Amino acid sequence: MKYLITSYIFIIGLAIGSFLNVCIYRIPRGISLYTPRYSFCPICKKRINWYDNIPLISYLILRGKCRSCGAPISIRYPIVEVSTAVSFILLYIENGIDLYFFISAIIFSLLLCIIFIDTETMLIPDLLSIPIGIVSCIYLLTLSDMAIVNRLITAAVIFAIFYSVSKIVKGSIGYGDIKLLTFLSLLLGTVNTFFMIFIASLLGSVFGIVWGKRREGLKTKVPFGPFIGMGALIMMIYGREMRFIYQLVLGNK
Ligand SMILES: [Zn+2]
Repeated sequence: MKYLITSYIFIIGLAIGSFLNVCIYRIPRGISLYTPRYSFCPICKKRINWYDNIPLISYLILRGKCRSCGAPISIRYPIVEVSTAVSFILLYIENGIDLYFFISAIIFSLLLCIIFIDTETMLIPDLLSIPIGIVSCIYLLTLSDMAIVNRLITAAVIFAIFYSVSKIVKGSIGYGDIKLLTFLSLLLGTVNTFFMIFIASLLGSVFGIVWGKRREGLKTKVPFGPFIGMGALIMMIYGREMRFIYQLVLGNK
């Protein structure tokens, strides 16, 4: 039964990942998500037939090239499809299927779009971050009064800290990042938010150093959104384990 559900989740994950690819391409370019209804090659603009548009499989069959013009298809397409499917499965294994699973799956999808769009454009569209806030608020309604108060305070503190930082050190953190952090802290609560920021900073620093070395002399800006997104994904799947480790470390002191 578990294998059957896992395979279903994998297939649904690939299909949702395929739609996320449409969002990642279209949202920053201001193209409607609904029209045209069909997918098209970004180079030759030819319509892509359904049999060339099957998640993952078509990419492998076409060996990453457009059937009509031979232009390379971005490796991002299979990467997004597989990451969506795999993160849904990890979430299912860790959590089972309940309300939190569906809420997390929606937020995962939004975060994956943000990770790729922010990497490409250095912007986090409100169209993607505000729904994270809305879904987080819906999740809050299922919690106890104490937990709700905790999360509201956490979100307020996170907003205040990062907003002040952005005012004091100009250009250090964007408003898109602050909004994203605030909305995610509503969902995650104090301890997990702390871990998310820690993981994001760690990944961001490591990446910044590696990236900085590769492009010596050039002052390149590294977007923070993708790392916040990755930190949140990790905490949403492995929050329990991370808290357990945290308590172990504290307990041994
Ligand atoms: Zn083409």
